[in-house]
Parts: sequence; structure tokens; C-alpha cells
Amino acid sequence: MGAGIARDAAMRGLSVTLIEKRTIGFGTSSRSSRLIHGGIRYLELGDIGLVYEALHERTTLLAIAPHLVRRQPFLFVMDRGAWWPWCRVGIGVMLYKLLAGSGSLGAHHPLTRKGILRREPLLDHAPLIGGAIYQDAHGDDIGLVRSNIAAARALGVEVLEETDAQVQVHGDSVEATLPDGRTIRAGALVLALGPWTDEVRSAIGLPDRDLVGGTKGIHIAFPIERLPLSHAVALRHPDDRRVMFCVPEPELGRVLVGTTDTETDEPPEALTVGEDDVAYLLRAVQHLFPTLDLTAADISDRWVGVRPLLQQGGSESSRSREHEIVREGRALTVAGGKLTTYREMAEEAVDLVGEVLGRELPPCRTADVALP
Ligand SMILES: Cc1cc2nc3c(=O)[nH]c(=O)nc-3n(C[C@H](O)[C@H](O)[C@H](O)COP(=O)(O)OP(=O)(O)OC[C@H]3O[C@@H](n4cnc5c(N)ncnc54)[C@H](O)[C@@H]3O)c2cc1C
Repeated sequence: MGAGIARDAAMRGLSVTLIEKRTIGFGTSSRSSRLIHGGIRYLELGDIGLVYEALHERTTLLAIAPHLVRRQPFLFVMDRGAWWPWCRVGIGVMLYKLLAGSGSLGAHHPLTRKGILRREPLLDHAPLIGGAIYQDAHGDDIGLVRSNIAAARALGVEVLEETDAQVQVHGDSVEATLPDGRTIRAGALVLALGPWTDEVRSAIGLPDRDLVGGTKGIHIAFPIERLPLSHAVALRHPDDRRVMFCVPEPELGRVLVGTTDTETDEPPEALTVGEDDVAYLLRAVQHLFPTLDLTAADISDRWVGVRPLLQQGGSESSRSREHEIVREGRALTVAGGKLTTYREMAEEAVDLVGEVLGRELPPCRTADVALP
């Protein structure tokens, strides 16, 4: 978010300093499922507006960053259920295509078991009754952050890493005092802090609003030689029926499997990958590929991230990925959202910066100018 906002603001002629307490991409944006997607499972929640918006951002990111975002076909596999659930999945993928409009990326339709196996023979021993094919995109999350940072730097943005600034918001300006004693004065402050939002807002003295509630997500990865998938697979976990994914990443020589979604109050930097979570993901993979004998010893990589979800109650998996930008005097706080929608959220935030500064800014061009 911060990188996207800095680039957009600089493209509109503003003078920008980006302050990062740790290193670029340290937070959630290097720990995602790396899907640039509308979110097929949000359809189930009736989040049509979010799916529509995110599918359109998917089209934009495929156009402006083809080196970082690529099309990814998915097989949605069903291991039980009968005629009606199968129809629901079929209708769901067709609705997904409709919502993508002209940005739709190819085949979206129900498949029989035979149709799935023809596309992905590795599923031969899975207890499948059928499913569907749909299209999404896969992106390099940290690559997108770095690319936005590179573009911002080229436009003159000062990027300060490992900098814990003391920030004060006054009526007519904002002041950041850096550890070396330097003071930066600005007309506006944008807080893009992911899961650290509430903690930092309270340190700055902004009203306590409880904007962001985190849920923890674990991923594991297998070497692609151990799990040689050619298609990405979406499945329901055999224990609790949550939708999860196995996504081949040949460029990294691995298959990513994730994710979990559990409420957490722990500071994001203190989280570790729990053995229970690993076992949960492993059970799903073993269920789908019983003859591959995959065990924890085959896992090549594992990581944890905290989703900065807009605080609005509901169970973890049914919480919306929608966002909100709160304006308090000269401070704006960006809360919620997804990696997929970062560009659009940045556009909205920079439009609001113009209002805070009382200046008419040139229109946003980030949907048209390619990322480096
Ligand atoms: C498991 C998981 C899977 C996900 N999968 C997807 C997906 O497939 N597709 C998708 O679109 N989205 C996905 N998301 C959501 C997406 O990753 C996040 O919405 C997005 O990365 C949030 O970006 P951000 O910039 O808001 O937060 P972050 O990336 O967390 O950035 C916040 C930054 O603030 C910095 N910071 C903290 N305190 C301070 C301070 N005092 N001063 C300066 N800097 C500070 C942190 O170091 C950090 O770099 C997933 C999230 C998780 C956890």
C-alpha cells in the first residue's frame, strides 16, 4: 500500500517521503498467497462488489505488470456432494467470468471427474466427483512492492528503510522526527501500516478506532518435483470445508499450499508457523494426492502472515477484504483491502491527499503506466 501510494502521489507531482520501520516488503505483502484475483470464495459470501472491483484490478495489473502477474487457470475440485453443490460451483465460476467482463481470461465451466483428470492426471487417486475450471492470475507480491518502490524512487521519492520515526499531526502540518534528529514537515500524512495500523495510530495519538483485526495465514510449499502439478487447484479442506489452494510456481521450483485463516492478537512480527497449522495443510494435500506419500519432511518452505482485515465482526473466513480510508485532519489511514486492489486503494488515498492539501491534483495514471 505504502509503495503504491508513494508512486501514485509522485506521479501526480507531490513531494513524498516513504518511511518504513523495517525493510521494504517486510510485512504482509511478502507473505500472501500471491493470487491476483477476484476471490472465488468471496462469491459465496455475497461480496459481489469486492469481487467485481478486484477482477477489474486483475485486468489492470496483468496489463501494467505482465512480468510480475500472469494468468493462472484453476481447477476447482469437489470430493463430495452431489448434483446441487456441483451446479453451484458451475454457476459460481460462470458468474465469476461474467463479473470479469471483457477481462475474463478463458474457460469457466463445470467439469466431470473425467474432464478434471484429463487436465490434471496427478489427481487420478483423489476422491473426486467433479468440479469446474476457472481463470485467475498469480502475482509476485514482493516483486510488485519492489517495482512500485523503484518507480517511486525514479520519480524522486525518498525511501527510508529501518527508520522508526516519531510522528506528530498538527492542525496545519505533520512532522516526522527521524532517529538521526532530522525533521520532515509535510502537508499530509498517509498511514499504510497493514496489521500494525491500530498500534501505530495509538502511538501517534490518533483516536482509538480498532480499525484492523488480524487473521493469521500459514503457507507451506513443496518442491515441484515432489508435487508436479500443472494446474492450480482449489479445493475444500476435508476437515472444515474451507476453500484453499495448491498453486504451482515453476519459476520458484515449488508448489504453494495455503492457507489457514485464524484470528490472532499476537504482534505480527512475533508469529511463528505452528505445527498444528502445518498438519492441517498437509492433511488436505495428502487427501488430494494420496499416492504421493507427502509428509512434513517434504516441505521446502513455510511462512506466516497477518491479514490486515477491516474490523467488522463475523467469523475469520467470512470477514470482508474491503477497505476504508479514514481522514482525521491532516492524517489519512488506509485500512483493509487486498494486494490485488492496492493500486485502486492508492488512487483513492492520493485523491484524498489532494483534498487534505486543498489542491487539485492531476488525475491518477497508474492504471495506464507500466510498472518497471
Ligand atoms: C496468508 C495471507 C494470504 C493472502 N493472500 C492474498 C492473495 O492471494 N491475494 C491478495 O490480493 N491479497 C492477499 N492477502 C492480503 C494482502 O497480502 C494484504 O492485504 C496486503 O499485502 C497488505 O499490504 P499493506 O501494505 O497494507 O500491509 P503490509 O504489507 O503489512 O505493510 C505494512 C508495512 O508497515 C510497516 N510498519 C509497521 N509499523 C511501522 C512504523 N511504525 N513506521 C513505519 N513503518 C511501519 C511494516 O514494516 C510493513 O512493511 C493475503 C494475506 C495473508 C496474510
